[in-house]
Amino acid sequence: MIKLTFLGTGGGRFATLYQTRATGGVYLEDFTPEKPFRVHIDPGPGALVHAGRNGINPTQTDGIIVTHCHPDHYVDAEILTEAMTMGGRRKKGFLLGSRSTLEGVENIGPCISRYFQKNVETCMIIEKTSMKLGELVVTPAPAIHSDPTTVGLRISTNTGIIAYVADTEFSKEIAGAYRNARVLILPVTRPRAAKIPYHLTTDDAAEFAAIVKPELCIITHFGLKMLEADPEAEARWIEQQSKVKCIAASDGMKIEVD
Ligand SMILES: [Zn+2]
Ligand SMILES: [Zn+2]
Repeated sequence: MIKLTFLGTGGGRFATLYQTRATGGVYLEDFTPEKPFRVHIDPGPGALVHAGRNGINPTQTDGIIVTHCHPDHYVDAEILTEAMTMGGRRKKGFLLGSRSTLEGVENIGPCISRYFQKNVETCMIIEKTSMKLGELVVTPAPAIHSDPTTVGLRISTNTGIIAYVADTEFSKEIAGAYRNARVLILPVTRPRAAKIPYHLTTDDAAEFAAIVKPELCIITHFGLKMLEADPEAEARWIEQQSKVKCIAASDGMKIEVD
């Protein structure tokens, strides 16, 4: 069984700065007997606080993944690495990040210092090859974003594929990379007819979901305009257009995939 906890559903500059919604990322727990594994994905500002409020003990995390080097995705990654390694006393856990996150590219990053990178057992740039985390297999997927090294995540589990799409523009190729996913997590920063570069709108999300055809599409990473438009109404529209069951995530929402 897989459990997803949404430690934040805000995204983009101003929803993050005003904390209109929390920005703590997604916590994925794999309860496979003998090999349970807990991964914190994209821990933005407030991730540590919201983990605690949702009953998550950050010292029990086994892996941290940062899809790209933007503050709504990485700000709490260092303090959560500190927790995962018991204050740097135990060399343990995985830290996976885009090249920008761990090494830096052009004028972006790195955003996790070498100190924390060396404290974990495995620190790796996630770019081309799949990684095995417990019973999970994490495969990088493409994105078109202002951080050119942004990676989406195709996470294979014993109960099927969870697609964690990173900040991206829409393209048919990108959507196609997540085919066969049971659950599709989409960062929909903008509502219908409010396009900006490098992000998804509700229109894009409907097309994306129709290509992937998951059992469930969950939209999250809402910017201010999306919050004004009402994410639940936008989710209903995506469902009507794509014929895929779609819900809008809320802060603290938990989903179990069996
Ligand atoms: Zn973002
Ligand atoms: Zn971004």
